[in-house]
Amino acid sequence: MDKILIIGAGGQIGTELTGYLRKEYGNKNVIASDIRATLHDDLMEGGPFIRMDAMDSRQVYQVIQKEKVKQVYFLAAILSAVCEKNPVMAWDINMGTMNSVLRVANELKFKMFVPSSIGAFGRTTPKDKTPQETIQRPNSIYGVTKVAGELLCDYYHDRYGVDVRGVRFPGIISNVVPPGGGTTDYAVDIYHKAIKFKKYTSYLKEDTFLDMMYMPDALKAAVKLMEADHNSLNYHNAYNIAAMSFSPKILADEIRKHIPGFQIDYKVDPVRQGIADSWPNSMDDSAARKDWGWKADFNLERMTKDMITVLSERFSRRKENEETK
Ligand code: NAD
Repeated sequence: MDKILIIGAGGQIGTELTGYLRKEYGNKNVIASDIRATLHDDLMEGGPFIRMDAMDSRQVYQVIQKEKVKQVYFLAAILSAVCEKNPVMAWDINMGTMNSVLRVANELKFKMFVPSSIGAFGRTTPKDKTPQETIQRPNSIYGVTKVAGELLCDYYHDRYGVDVRGVRFPGIISNVVPPGGGTTDYAVDIYHKAIKFKKYTSYLKEDTFLDMMYMPDALKAAVKLMEADHNSLNYHNAYNIAAMSFSPKILADEIRKHIPGFQIDYKVDPVRQGIADSWPNSMDDSAARKDWGWKADFNLERMTKDMITVLSERFSRRKENEETK
């Protein structure tokens, strides 16, 4: 059994990916790592954890060599809205961590998963059915790091034969760990506020369409691509993957089917609106479907039903606990 290391395991995707991989491959074979000192309780108790700064390629090398790691899921990054607050730090962290881990991948020859994002597109990209190969001139610093990251991964693959693979994730919706400061975070927060207050104020305009995906599909995509036959991959990196596309208004209408009386109003944040306006409405994921059999399980209706069930149960359990204290 290959040992797997997750770098950036403490984030929105890493927390759930660690649990998913441990179920699939066994607790002791999946090492969680992050610059954070501690992670979600379940991860700390469920298997090995190493505190590691991915910028430090010597430490990355030592850990991977000592643990005989054969696969790395690289998730360390800072997300779009946070990046805009400090573009210098955005470049340093997003590129510095990736450069450091790719360098080690070339020396130790492990397989890597590196996600890109819908953020790798820009205003001049075709917005509907955005092709796999198209114009990529992003306007956000996050997008700049994502395009540079895609190119760097291609370079290590083509020049040195590093088996590095990746997808362009849409906005990810989940219910375990809150999102890390992206432009699509509203689509998680809205469920929490709908259940607690029956009211939500959106920072994006009502008709802003974006590609989105429910976490179980995102996890499935990452692992399926890592397990795919190398010879069938025409792109290796930066595969478009899609599941659903909706606007805040459409999401609010769907939530209202479960929570009658739910209200949404709008107070637009120009920074996040500007980023969202430059991203695709919906991506064409036919290359991923053809090359490695990608297909999403969740659409807006199924996801909304699941999110509301899971979060409602959690909130009422918490309330009961507080009342019995
Ligand atoms: P997140 O911000 O929730 O988590 C990132 C993790 O990386 C954090 O736990 C952070 O502590 C860690 N980290 C930061 N700097 C580090 C360093 N120097 N060394 C080690 N760890 C470090 O992000 P996420 O949402 O889980 O995203 C993971 C990846 O997926 C990123 O590349 C992101 O761009 C991409 N992505 C995410 C989404 C989304 O909606 N969440 C969408 C598209 C792409």
